[in-house]
This record gives sequence, C-alpha cells and structure tokens, in this order.
Amino acid sequence: MALKEPSVIPEGKRTYIFRGREILVDGGGEAAGAEAVASLVPFPGTRLVEDEATGCVGMEFPSAATAPEGFRFIPFPTYFFTHDDDENARVSRMRGYSLWLSSTKFCSACGQPLRLHAVENALECPGCGRLHFPRVEPCIIVLVTRGDELLLLRNIRDTMGIYACLAGFVEIGETLEQAVRREVREETGLTIKNIRYVGSQGWPFPDQLMAGFYADYAGGDIHIQKSEIADARWFRRDALPPLPKPGSIAWRLIHDLSLF
Ligand SMILES: [Zn+2]
Repeated sequence: MALKEPSVIPEGKRTYIFRGREILVDGGGEAAGAEAVASLVPFPGTRLVEDEATGCVGMEFPSAATAPEGFRFIPFPTYFFTHDDDENARVSRMRGYSLWLSSTKFCSACGQPLRLHAVENALECPGCGRLHFPRVEPCIIVLVTRGDELLLLRNIRDTMGIYACLAGFVEIGETLEQAVRREVREETGLTIKNIRYVGSQGWPFPDQLMAGFYADYAGGDIHIQKSEIADARWFRRDALPPLPKPGSIAWRLIHDLSLF
C-alpha cells in the first residue's frame, strides 16, 4: 500500500502534526489530531502525507506555526518515551514520512521536482525515473558483560550523568556483528566474544534503526575514544548509574531481555 498526498485531511484518519523536533498534543498529552488543524494558520507549502498501510495522516508545519488554544507543541522524544510500542511505531513512521516529504522536493540526480510513486513508498523522478526512498540508518547497540558487571558509557554530549550501552552506525559493507566488534574496539579498546542478537527498535531521532546485541568481554583494558566518549566503566548490576529512559532499547538491554 502506497503513500498519498491528499489536499485535505481525510475523515476518520489518525492525524499527527509535527513542527521540527516537536509534536502537537492536546491537554492530556495525546497527539492533537485533525480537530486541531482547523485552528492552525495554514502555511503555504505544508504537505499532508497519508499512509494507507496504517490509516494515518502526518504533516510537518514550519517553525513559525503556533499551537492553537488548548494544544501545545512538545519535544518529540517526550512523546515517544511516554507511549507504547504500537503508538511509537505509528508516530515514528508518520514523522519520518512527513519530514522526508517536506524536505525532499527535487531529484538529486537531475533536479526535477519529485512526485510520490504509485505503489512504492518512495518519490520518483519524472525526468530520469530514479526512485528516492526515505532514509533508514542502521545502527548497533551492544551491552557488553563481564561476569556480573556491565560495560556502560557516558557520551561526550551527555549533560545528565547518564550511562548507556555502546552504540554506533553500521558502515557500508559491514555485517551487524562486524559493526558491534568494531564499535566496541574503537570506543573502548576492548575485545569481545559470543555476540548475540537480541532485538531491534526504530529510533526516530531522526531515522535510525537500532539492532540490539549482547556480548561477553574477551580481553583488554578500557581506553576510551575521547572524541565520542566522556567515560566508560564496569558497573555491578546492584550499583547502576543513571540510565537511559525506560522504553529505550538501552534500558531494555540492561533490564530485561524478555521485553523483546
Ligand atoms: Zn531525476
């Protein structure tokens, strides 16, 4: 089932309204929906995207848009971390498509304006026929253990003292397992063994797919990659530092494998 670009919001569709890194919610913190749109000032160029597969509609408003009476824009991660997996899958999908459609207007090969493909969830170029798909960036995240100890790291961008699992982008040509081994070596200098895939999570900040792994410590001493990591150390399970939010794949890896 393909994407469509309706000129008005179709009735009875679950509708999400985004503004940059924010989402419009009602007084109860739920996605505002179509009823809020009538009160929003229309902006030229705002594009609706309808997803036949989920029956949802999304739209991306410019930064100048203000929330109507009774609604407010909140950071998208705040919404994501307070909703369940099913809702997060829907809202992530619609946010991704809305951002993609509002930012991908011309063919990067020949410069022609793009249009939605009739069947694929893609934009097609009427000039050269090239298809442009929305981007999904594969990443790995791994919890390395050494007996009862967990390897956790604090990112240099962290300001909250939060320690998380080691994560990084998959490079071209790599398997996920090779990416796990490389990222652990690059960021900590450690070697690992017994790499086990656990499960995955869409990570729409903005467009990653996180593949989660466990691995066992094999050897080496911690030498952090200072351009990425502020600190890395072993923690006992009964003395864990501040952790990523519940709902994140890092939190799930640390707490409970069965959540997958
Ligand atoms: Zn083209």
